[in-house]
Amino acid sequence: MKKVGIIRCQQTEDMCPGTSDFKVAAEGKGGFEHLGPVQIVGFVSCGGCPGKRAVSRAKLMVDRGAEAIVLASCISRGNPIGFACPHLDAIKAAVVRKIGPEIELIEYTH
Ligand code: SF4
Repeated sequence: MKKVGIIRCQQTEDMCPGTSDFKVAAEGKGGFEHLGPVQIVGFVSCGGCPGKRAVSRAKLMVDRGAEAIVLASCISRGNPIGFACPHLDAIKAAVVRKIGPEIELIEYTH
């Protein structure tokens, strides 16, 4: 079973427990369809706008065993409040630069 680390939007964290993220991860659905059921080894926020802490937190999760980093749907799709992150592209680019090309970056959860 692959190990993944999930990064979520800090603004959404106030109101969302992340239930759907855990559900699709356990079932290997949504953004995890190609991996099958995965084990979540970290579930952290971006640290708040503009999301700079996502970079060091992604690296820490890789150091702790994550084989893929996942941006939760609150960041990329605006679930559940309909507000997608305006800094998505910058966060993605900075995270990939930090974790390197061997670690997959998955861009949504559900
Ligand atoms: S940077 Fe994006 S993901 Fe992070 S709190 Fe702001 S809107 Fe949410």
